[in-house]
Amino acid sequence: MTTIQIIRGFKDILPGETELWQHIEKIARDIFENFGFQEIRLPVLERSELFARSIGADTDIVEKEMYTFPDRKGDLLTMRPEATASVVRAYIQHKLYAKDPVQKIYSIGPMFRRERPQKGRYRQFYQINAEVFGIASPLIDAQLIFMLTTIFSKLNVTDIATHINSLGCPECRPGFKKALSTLLSSVSDKLCSDCTRRHKRNPLRVLDCKVPSCREAMSGAPAILDFLCPECKEHFNTVKKRLETLNIPYIVDKNLVRGLDYYTRTTFEIQTGSLGAQSAVAGGGRYDGLLKALGGPDHPAIGFAIGLDRLAEIKSAESDNFLQNPEVFIAALGDHGRTAALEWACHLGLEGIKTELNLNDRSLKSQMKRANRLGAAHVLIVGEDELTKSTVIMRNMNTKNQFSIPVHGLVENIKKILKKGIIH
Ligand code: AMP
Repeated sequence: MTTIQIIRGFKDILPGETELWQHIEKIARDIFENFGFQEIRLPVLERSELFARSIGADTDIVEKEMYTFPDRKGDLLTMRPEATASVVRAYIQHKLYAKDPVQKIYSIGPMFRRERPQKGRYRQFYQINAEVFGIASPLIDAQLIFMLTTIFSKLNVTDIATHINSLGCPECRPGFKKALSTLLSSVSDKLCSDCTRRHKRNPLRVLDCKVPSCREAMSGAPAILDFLCPECKEHFNTVKKRLETLNIPYIVDKNLVRGLDYYTRTTFEIQTGSLGAQSAVAGGGRYDGLLKALGGPDHPAIGFAIGLDRLAEIKSAESDNFLQNPEVFIAALGDHGRTAALEWACHLGLEGIKTELNLNDRSLKSQMKRANRLGAAHVLIVGEDELTKSTVIMRNMNTKNQFSIPVHGLVENIKKILKKGIIH
C-alpha cells in the first residue's frame, strides 16, 4: 500500500526540532512582555476581501500566492498569507483602541503562500509578528527595530544586517512613482516578464526584483529618499538618529520597498548571510493608512514579522541541544515493579523532575540501553527482588556508581539526591 505523503511545500516540525522552536518562541515572548506587548490569537482563515483590500490586489501575494476557495455557501475564504491584515481587522472589529489608544500586540502562528518551494521558502511557514497601534512618533519605529534586533542578539544570531528605507507618504510618493515610471519606460525592453507587468500596476516592486537583468536596468533608478516631503524626511532622520543612540548599526537601502501596498514611511528588513538565497529573516514597517482604508479609525501603525522557519534554520546549524534529558529513568521489572514505577513516576513528574519509565515487559539490559539512549542522568532499578527488600537501586549513569535507597519516602529521597547533586 502506498503511504500518504505531506503536501509539497509543507513540512512537519518533528520532536527533536520543536525544542528549538520553543526556545525561540520563549525568548521572543519574554522580550515582548518586557516591552509591554500582549498576545493576540487569530484564525488562520479570513474573508479573501480582507487581503485584497489590505495587501493590495496588484501584489504577488494576492495575484498568485493565496490559498483561496469558496466555502459551501459560496463565500470566498483565504488561508491567511500574513498576520497584519488579521490583527488590524480584530483591532477595528473589537474596537481595541477604545480601551487604550495605544495597543502593542504580538502573535505567533502559521501563514500560507503558494510560492515555489525551496530551502527557506515554504507554503506553510510560521511568523512571529508584532504590531503597535496609535503612535505616530518615529521614536516607536526605533524602539521596534531595537526590540527586533534584541530578539536576534538574545538568540546569539549575530550575522545580521538591518536595512532601512522610507517609502514616503501619499503626499510625496506619487512624485517618486512618476520618476520611476519614466525610467521604467526607458528600460522596458530589459525587464523580466514579471516586472513588465509590475511597471504598470505596482512599479515600486520592480526595485525589489532579484533578476540580474532587472537589477542592472534599475541601477540608475531614482531614490525615493530624494523625493520625501519635509515631514517624511524629518521622520526618517529621527529614526536614524535614534538607532544610532541605541547602538543599532543600519544600512540605508534605497531599493527596500517590500512587497505589500500598505507600507508608508519607515520600512526595514533584517538580512542574514547564513541562509543563502532567502536572506530576509524579518521585515516590517509603518502602515499609517491601513486602518482607515479598512474602515477603522485614522490611527497610525507599525509592525514587523520574523520568519520563524528561517530563524530556526540559522539556529539549527549550531550545536546547541535544547532537548532536556530525563533526570530519572525507572527501569521496572515484573508487574509489581511496573505498578510501583508508575506511581513514583507520576509523583516525580509532579515534583518537576523529568522522569521516563519503562512500561513494556523488557529485560533489564534492554531497559538500560534505552536509558542510555535517552541520556538519563540516573536509573532507578525496580525489580521484584528489590521490592521484597523494600529498597530500590539508584544508578548514576555518569559515574556508573549505584546504591540502594529505601522505598519508604522514595520520592523525597530522590528529590534530595538530585537537589544536592550528590554523586555517589
Ligand atoms: P513578509 O510578510 O513577506 O514581509 O515576510 C516576513 C518574513 O517572513 C520574511 O522575512 C521571511 O523570513 C518570512 N517568510 C516570508 N515568506 C516565507 C516563506 N514562503 N517561507 C518561509 N518564510 C517566509
